[in-house]
Amino acid sequence: MPRPRTRGTGLRHRLAELRGPDVPAKALDARALAALAANPGCRRRAILDGAGVDKAALAGALGSPSAFGQSQFALVRGNAFEAKVKADGGTELLRLVHEKLDPTAEPPADARVPDLTATGPEGRTARTALVLREATETATGTGTPGAWTLLDHPMLALDVAGSPAFLEPDAVVVHPDGGWTVVEIKSFPMLDGSADPSKVGAAARQAAVYVLALEEVAARLDPVPEVRHRILLVCPKDFSNLPTASAVDVRKQRAVTRRQLARLTRIEDIARALPEGTCFSPGLPADRLADAVESVPATYAPECLSACELAFHCRARSREDGAVTSLGRAVRAELGGLSTVEDVLAAARGEAGDPDDPAVAALRRAARLRAEALGATAGLAGGEVLACP
Ligand code: SF4
Repeated sequence: MPRPRTRGTGLRHRLAELRGPDVPAKALDARALAALAANPGCRRRAILDGAGVDKAALAGALGSPSAFGQSQFALVRGNAFEAKVKADGGTELLRLVHEKLDPTAEPPADARVPDLTATGPEGRTARTALVLREATETATGTGTPGAWTLLDHPMLALDVAGSPAFLEPDAVVVHPDGGWTVVEIKSFPMLDGSADPSKVGAAARQAAVYVLALEEVAARLDPVPEVRHRILLVCPKDFSNLPTASAVDVRKQRAVTRRQLARLTRIEDIARALPEGTCFSPGLPADRLADAVESVPATYAPECLSACELAFHCRARSREDGAVTSLGRAVRAELGGLSTVEDVLAAARGEAGDPDDPAVAALRRAARLRAEALGATAGLAGGEVLACP
């Protein structure tokens, strides 16, 4: 007699069906998890990520390949910069952590850089947890007082929809007081102490994922060490390759990502609402895949272009539908309940919409001003001559 499926195995089976027969699940990395926080309302992305669908392959099969990801040149440059920052036992990196985040602590002389080598992601995760525990005990008094520890490329696991996602931050530093800090090393420049806000935002969202994963490790210790919510972002200074750094508060990004992850665990609801036979396997014909993708509601916004592999596909659909979200979230917010360009134009012409709605009233005023301006221009074009002084 077949054994009844538990709720967890039932969901896993359903997600495997959505991915397609024999299609392996694509593991979620910190970038993917961070991107969830960039567009928190998108159910399409939630189900595709939850089911482990390879979105880049799906976008290619839909005929809208993503132009998303780092060039080989940028990768090489980034790796070279990271090696420079961590050279000499991480002396410069620890100096920056001390200067920007913990200036009242003892300077980080003779910091420990433990070996984190182990077999497989599970082994590396266990080794990282052990080193973090030992470093925290050391830092809090049973070993050398005032010790700093640098974990170079530790491995952390975060529970995502019931399965572990393995994450590898650039570095984690254990402070002399036992607190833990995430360090993100990026190759975009920091000019006069500030960097491109969109890139800093993406780095902050990624670091927030690591903070959440570290909190899971910390929660298993007694006493629970503090996982600091100000992370260190290290970038090249101006146009040189000298490192400089800035403390970034990731509390907001951490809260959004945590909410998103909690929603991911409810992907069962999204999966249940999909038509029977829905499948996102990149091997299927493009029209069938397009139907499958369209069966999940999406909330396209221009931010998707830098965060999601399906952005070109979703943008094209959003434009076809005349959705105002394709103009940006700020415009969307200004327009209240008017969700399509057609609705907006009808409201402006006075053919639809509640005149007491502030968005409708503003549109009608703008339309009147435009008509007046065009009328004046037409008058000029029709032969009016301006008197020149
Ligand atoms: S590109 Fe599409 S699937 Fe990806 S987050 Fe944006 S709307 Fe969602």
